[in-house]
Order: sequence, then structure tokens, then C-alpha cells
Amino acid sequence: MCVGGDANLPEHVRENQQLLRCPNCGSLMSIDAVYLREDPRSKSKVIERALSCKDCKIRIRQYIYISRL
Ligand SMILES: [Zn+2]
Repeated sequence: MCVGGDANLPEHVRENQQLLRCPNCGSLMSIDAVYLREDPRSKSKVIERALSCKDCKIRIRQYIYISRL
């Protein structure tokens, strides 16, 4: 399911701070894991990330679908 690892991702994918805000407190979350894969049905690229907030100790899993119109 997971293609490659953290090392294969472009830096702007790994470190996109605009998508790293904690939904609870608004501070920057740290990235525990990043995976890039393709969804064959929708032909989208999917970035899946596990994020954690050190301030309020929550973890979220984030899916970013990149699709062409
Ligand atoms: Zn937080």
C-alpha cells in the first residue's frame, strides 16, 4: 500500500507547513510518517501523513488527494 518512504518525497511535500496546523490548538504539528501513493480508481496521488501535536498530545492522520480536473 505504501510506496517509498520519507526520503523519496520532495521537500515541499514533506514540509508543507500550511497543512500542518493542529486542528485543536493551531500550533505546528510534527510529522511522524509520510507516504505517497496512487489511487488507481480516481487516478489521484494521495499523500498520507501521521501527525502529532506535542502541545495537546493528539494524533491525526491526514490524507491529501491531488487530482486533476
Ligand atoms: Zn494541538
